[in-house]
Amino acid sequence: MANSKFEYVREFEQPDYLLRNTWIVVRVDGRAFTKMCARYGFEKPNDRRALDVMNAAAKAVVTDLPEITIAYGVSDEYSFVFHKSCNIFERRASKLVSTIVSTFTANYIHCWPSFFPDAPLSFPLPTFDGRAVCYPTIQNLRDYMSWRQADCHINNLYNTAFWSLVQLGGLDNKEAEKTLAGTLAADKNEILFSRFKINYNNEPEIFRKGSVVFRDYELVDPASHKTAETMDALAEPAQQSKTQNENDKKRRSKARIVVEHLDIIRDDFWHRRPWILS
Ligand code: ATP
Ligand code: ATP
Ligand code: MG
Ligand code: MG
Ligand code: MG
Ligand code: MG
Ligand code: MG
Repeated sequence: MANSKFEYVREFEQPDYLLRNTWIVVRVDGRAFTKMCARYGFEKPNDRRALDVMNAAAKAVVTDLPEITIAYGVSDEYSFVFHKSCNIFERRASKLVSTIVSTFTANYIHCWPSFFPDAPLSFPLPTFDGRAVCYPTIQNLRDYMSWRQADCHINNLYNTAFWSLVQLGGLDNKEAEKTLAGTLAADKNEILFSRFKINYNNEPEIFRKGSVVFRDYELVDPASHKTAETMDALAEPAQQSKTQNENDKKRRSKARIVVEHLDIIRDDFWHRRPWILS
């Protein structure tokens, strides 16, 4: 079709190259999952099977795209982080987002029956939206990750208290909402403990912390390692030789991909795994 008289229409395409030398985060979020919860009878506040499907899909995405350095998931969303030196799809936003969204969605649907053998999918099938955001510094990127995990904590504490009041306390939704209006975290912990003997800290980590997907190498002693700030200043992937880059890529693609439920707000996680942001 080259050189046809129709080819001029390509000129209508808008460039959407993401700013170079920035960390790219692509976040996908389930479309109308509030309805999905009702249709497939998700347990409230946390359906473990539904989280397992999300994690299986995310693991498949990270496996398929070795350029992803880390991913974080909670509820019906997942964030995928590309290294600032990454040049995949020439950093074109629409290519990146659409590839992540479709890879994630295809795997979500593929993995569903393993976790919901008794609830086959029906139309409309689950779908996801996606967006890409660039973060210029490691601090910005870590603040983004912290923001999502803090959100997980705040929502989960609220939801755990809410559904305890409804399921164990016999309140209706309005009454439970009213009971929690204006309460602080400490009040919610107290309600859970005094009324239901639930120690929030003993709730499963996957619910309280969400899920982190990354490539597993040997842990580093945090005391011997540089801080995130100095790493940011020193990380100069442009100076790496091509072979070194290739070797890194090969090693990365061979490493085991794990799904864990860890604190990613504190330094410890990052300092023990310097390869994630270096
Ligand atoms: P939108 O299309 O705008 O994203 P939505 O209905 O998906 O609409 P969200 O803000 O994404 O809205 O919220 C997702 C909803 O799905 C929340 O109510 C959340 O509690 C619920 N949910 C997601 N995963 C689970 C799960 N594993 N167990 C129980 N509930 C879940
Ligand atoms: P990219 O990921 O960059 O899109 P690609 O391999 O998909 O890489 P395309 O330019 O999209 O490259 O080309 C698609 C290829 O698949 C072409 O070679 C096309 O002939 C072939 N193809 C697609 N559909 C069919 C089909 N139904 N039968 C035979 N070949 C097909
Ligand atoms: Mg949304
Ligand atoms: Mg949603
Ligand atoms: Mg959501
Ligand atoms: Mg094509
Ligand atoms: Mg193609």
